[in-house]
Amino acid sequence: MHQPALPHLTGQDPDIADLVEAEARRQFEKIRLIASENYVSPAVLEATGSVLTNKYSEGYAGRRYYEGQQNVDPIELLAIERAKGLFGVEHANVQPYSGAPANLAVYLAFLEPGDTVMGLSLPMGGHLTHGWSVSATGKWFNAVRYGVRADTGRVDMDQVRDLALKERPKLIWCGGTAIPRTIDFAAFAEIARETGAVLAADIAHIAGLVAGGAHPSPAGHADVISTTTHKTLRGPRGAMLMSTAEHAKAVDRAVFPGLQGGPHDHTTAAIAVALREAAGPDFALYARRIVANARALAGALAERGFDLVTGGTDNHLILIDLTNRGVAGKPAAQALDRAGIELNYNTVPFDPRTPFDPSGLRIGTAAITTRGLTEKHMPRLAAWIDEVVGAHDDERVIARVAGEARDLLAAHPMPGWTPAP
Ligand SMILES: *Cc1c(COP(=O)(O)O)cnc(C)c1O
Repeated sequence: MHQPALPHLTGQDPDIADLVEAEARRQFEKIRLIASENYVSPAVLEATGSVLTNKYSEGYAGRRYYEGQQNVDPIELLAIERAKGLFGVEHANVQPYSGAPANLAVYLAFLEPGDTVMGLSLPMGGHLTHGWSVSATGKWFNAVRYGVRADTGRVDMDQVRDLALKERPKLIWCGGTAIPRTIDFAAFAEIARETGAVLAADIAHIAGLVAGGAHPSPAGHADVISTTTHKTLRGPRGAMLMSTAEHAKAVDRAVFPGLQGGPHDHTTAAIAVALREAAGPDFALYARRIVANARALAGALAERGFDLVTGGTDNHLILIDLTNRGVAGKPAAQALDRAGIELNYNTVPFDPRTPFDPSGLRIGTAAITTRGLTEKHMPRLAAWIDEVVGAHDDERVIARVAGEARDLLAAHPMPGWTPAP
């Protein structure tokens, strides 16, 4: 049963309805460890599926290019006020379609083509949009990249400072997609100040932890904060840019008309709903539980001899280097998926293998925490991962683990769908 229900879809388009149903069942039965994913609430699903998708609203509240904004304006203003309150920022723009377009808007707001940008190298845990070569941001800007220390696996702040002093980037990114440790926003801010750069904090992965007080906030340190709304923050697919009042105009102009057309009003409403949920008392507990689960899982994996990048985690994310297990990331991830444990293969720092066939696995605990799994379940999860990585071509073991995983999850409700009784 979908919640909200899908009677019209089921009646009119069984091809798509069947696939949506199958996907719901897949999400119900799988231990979802993809670090960028979550389960949103039925309220967020309802807002996302509402008639707001029918509306066009180019511009900003009170300054639109289309009539009929009597309801959309207050919705967008509520989303903005909630974002400002939750993250303690002076300005918020809730219109970016997703994280990558939000980051492009940061370039448009602060840089000219050919200017220098500095970000964490992609294979070390950065994001494509922080100046990686295949991204528009690496093609149209002069990108220089910092990395992590070989001995600790942590961001090399000495290198960040040396490189910033030498290259004088106009924009410095901190944050990324595979960083298992706390980001030192204050240290980045000091380097940005010293070198005259704009500091952008990309908290796409950790926004829910920041909102829930389980990770320090970049507010007061970064000039601009970029985030998706659908990872640990547990909202719809979307993004936000937040900034000091000083940069509000530049950010807004960059998003519209600089980069986008009409905002997705149904998404804006769903972002507002998610921000309200994230401001509630349960969410701080949720954020702490995400981290507690990640710590417990990291501990249990380390006990089983897994080599964890940085040795553990401070947040929702664990990066495993499988080199000592004699198996690459991709075959391990594929076997785990067949065993009902869904994650992604990932590069590890200084990976000798290729990005499409790297040495690592990335794990995140946001979705399983939403399902209600707790620290006491983590040793069992680590044991399953250990068993399947060790027997990745033994379909008997894989099928048995998949059954056990399904049994565990059957007792933990999924927001948005329940199996037929
Ligand atoms: C996920 C992510 C993005 C991109 O978000 P999309 O919504 O996939 O475009 C940008 N930056 C970081 C750090 C991310 O983790």
